[in-house]
Amino acid sequence: MPTLRLCALYPELMNIYADRGNIAVLRARCEWRGLGFELSSASLGDSLDPDAHDFFYMGGGQDRDQVAVAHDMAATKRDALHAAAGRDAVVLAVCGGYQLLGHSYEMGGEELPGVGLVDLRTVREPGPRLIGNCAIEAELGAGPRVIAGFENHGGRTYLGGTERPLGGVLRGHGNNGHDGFEGVHRRNVIGTYLHGPLLPKNVWLADRLIELALGIELEPLRDDALEDAAHASARRAAGV
Ligand code: GLN
Repeated sequence: MPTLRLCALYPELMNIYADRGNIAVLRARCEWRGLGFELSSASLGDSLDPDAHDFFYMGGGQDRDQVAVAHDMAATKRDALHAAAGRDAVVLAVCGGYQLLGHSYEMGGEELPGVGLVDLRTVREPGPRLIGNCAIEAELGAGPRVIAGFENHGGRTYLGGTERPLGGVLRGHGNNGHDGFEGVHRRNVIGTYLHGPLLPKNVWLADRLIELALGIELEPLRDDALEDAAHASARRAAGV
């Protein structure tokens, strides 16, 4: 049976909104199917082996934690992340992590470097933080599906001209509150503002990401009643 080898990036710094729940869901859904699951992590100063993992995960973070992370990631992990993305490992980054996948995050006169895996920029603009329940429609290979979650970000993200969003906003603010886009999706690199945590509320997405990371097809699990209820509740909260 294959094993999902997951690397959590900066787990002690990038974990607000219980984003570690995303990893718990990936582990459970692998183990319930008899798949192996190996968790490792890479943080400040650590190098990264692009071939040793199938899935790189990064959660949300406060601006102050993002400063150290952004500089370290650009210095010690940029090349490995490009190599991993180039061989279609999954990279999933939520909110603060998502902002650092692009070219830069400009906040309060300071410009943090991104790793440039995708063509986007994040800026601070006058105006309130973008907070609330959010739902988007995304297409990840089996027809359009709803992803529902909760967003809370001060940064506004703008995609470059040919970069595709993860989905279109059904309810909520999305990348910047203006253009109706949410997240980014290029090959197996996915960024999103949706916390919740994201995967407990959208287990179809967890399963799809496991499939993409391992290059396999998963059978549905026998009983997802609780998970389906969590998804329905997140959709109701967002009003879709
Ligand atoms: N610090 C970032 C912002 O406010 C990201 C926040 C988050 O991860 N929720 O834009």
